[in-house]
Amino acid sequence: MLCPTCGASDNRVVDSRPAEDGRAIRRRRQCETCADRFTTYERLEPQLMVRKRNGRLEAFSTPKLTSGVSASLADRPVSGSQVEALVAEVEDSLRSNGAAQVTSEEIGHEVLERLKGLDEVAYLRFASVYKEFKGAADFEKELAELESAE
Ligand SMILES: [Zn+2]
Repeated sequence: MLCPTCGASDNRVVDSRPAEDGRAIRRRRQCETCADRFTTYERLEPQLMVRKRNGRLEAFSTPKLTSGVSASLADRPVSGSQVEALVAEVEDSLRSNGAAQVTSEEIGHEVLERLKGLDEVAYLRFASVYKEFKGAADFEKELAELESAE
């Protein structure tokens, strides 16, 4: 949590107490750099649900998305921390509109948007799973779109 006054990331908790009838924890923090104090609240993150293509609902799983993205990046020059950052961005983006439910298409779209700039091979691998390519023609079409976007 960055200090709202000076932007430093190091701070310590000086007070911690239950809030909102026990559904949150309020923490007073002191910045180690400028000594300003500020307040943070810790709350349970609402479970994000995913509507699958077959209509079923399942809980969003960060490890599952990470392994899906990692699989598309196998043997590619992309580090594990880049994968984690990508997945975190996708999750943030999905949660940012406040919806309790997203579709697997939305997740796939968010991932592809980011893979496009990261690694083209991984992008095509992920797209072939996500878009359920029916054959080489679909693959060629996607490749052409990718190239025309540059
Ligand atoms: Zn500060």
